[in-house]
Amino acid sequence: MSQARLMDGTSLARRILEETGKRAAGLTERTGTAPCLATVLVGEDPASVTYVRMKQNRCRKAGITSRHVALPAATTTEELVGTLEALSADPGVHGILLQHPMGEHIDERAAFEAIAPGKDVDGVTFASFATMSFGLPGFVSCTPGGVMRLLDEYGVDPAGKRAVVVGRSAILGKPAGMLLLARDATVTYCHSRTRDLSAAVREADIVVAAVGRPRLIRGQDVKPGAVVIDAGYNPGNIGDVDFDSAAERASLITPVPGGVGPMTIATLLEQTVDAAARQLGAAGV
Ligand code: NAP
Repeated sequence: MSQARLMDGTSLARRILEETGKRAAGLTERTGTAPCLATVLVGEDPASVTYVRMKQNRCRKAGITSRHVALPAATTTEELVGTLEALSADPGVHGILLQHPMGEHIDERAAFEAIAPGKDVDGVTFASFATMSFGLPGFVSCTPGGVMRLLDEYGVDPAGKRAVVVGRSAILGKPAGMLLLARDATVTYCHSRTRDLSAAVREADIVVAAVGRPRLIRGQDVKPGAVVIDAGYNPGNIGDVDFDSAAERASLITPVPGGVGPMTIATLLEQTVDAAARQLGAAGV
């Protein structure tokens, strides 16, 4: 029987989106301009098309305009960089989301770096990674930012705790660890070359699973009372954590779906309104 309390990302995300909608309306009223998020998609990968559509729908509901740029799969890095530079320079666009993964032929880093840091509402640029890591104001990578909000919402202070992040991707694992470090956790990163993953996870007061391997983290490796955050999302709505066995030992745990997932879009939209407020000279809205 499950003992852990659920960390409900769906309801927290709904509250953040309601607040973001109010702020977007206030900004539009005060400046005459609605916040605008540009979404850029290369190719027609069905999952990416769905993600972009979800983000656009959420924008509409929150009173944020979205401008979609659909590029053919054969787009070169140079062409993509040109598009992103143009959006970066366009005063009518306040935030830019480049949906990834892109095609193998595209230099993903070059594309991300073409996004102006002030419009990097998805938190993918080197500049955003640096501010995140130093705990300075800036845009956070959306999924890790959502993870931190969930911890705060449930009263989990990372300071002094042992946090184990499983996964070290540029958009998820690495920034999640840096955000935890900036909040004074003692952070261990695990990855595909980690020798004894179970032993590392057993030490964790906070586990963040960001791998993309169904049920990799088993309950037997969860320290009793630990907080378990499952950022993984595998086909069939399966997380990276074996929920039933982990919930027996954890004090708090995120479900999949309904945990980390909804927090990502909420963070994206919140940061879009932050970016628009700054660019429209209405900080504080
Ligand atoms: P990724 O780029 O494929 O990175 C996966 C990471 O897991 C890598 O660092 C890899 O190590 C590590 N890894 C792979 N196998 C491992 C193993 N057996 N033991 C320990 N570590 C292992 O994936 P990602 O983009 O970070 O995404 C990870 C998961 O999060 C996916 O399920 C994805 O769908 C989900 N996700 C969810 C959201 C959301 O909004 N909820 C957003 C983004 C991603 P190496 O570095 O050594 O290769």
